[in-house]
Amino acid sequence: MYQDVERCVRAVRAKDERFDGWFFTAVVTTGIYCRPSCPATPPKPANMRFYPSAAAAQQAGFRACKHCRPAPWRPWRAYAVQYLWSTGDHPINQLPAGPGPTARAAAPRA
Ligand SMILES: [Zn+2]
Repeated sequence: MYQDVERCVRAVRAKDERFDGWFFTAVVTTGIYCRPSCPATPPKPANMRFYPSAAAAQQAGFRACKHCRPAPWRPWRAYAVQYLWSTGDHPINQLPAGPGPTARAAAPRA
């Protein structure tokens, strides 16, 4: 499905939620990836890239959109990260002191 660029573009333009889960749209100009039904204004087709899963988009260096929340995130994972932080085992605790990422940016919720 995600290889059929024309169909993907049409689904994104229509914000068609029936396509949610079939593919994910990444936007090269913003570095963000979305569900097809994202309420945000669709980008130009030339700036879109399509991936078969949120994980694939993430691996390609894109961040999850805050509007449609496409991240493959589960509450148990958020708890696991919080637990690691509280024990000091999380790699973020081993970074040199200074203005680091906020807890919100480091642990987005879906
Ligand atoms: Zn979105």
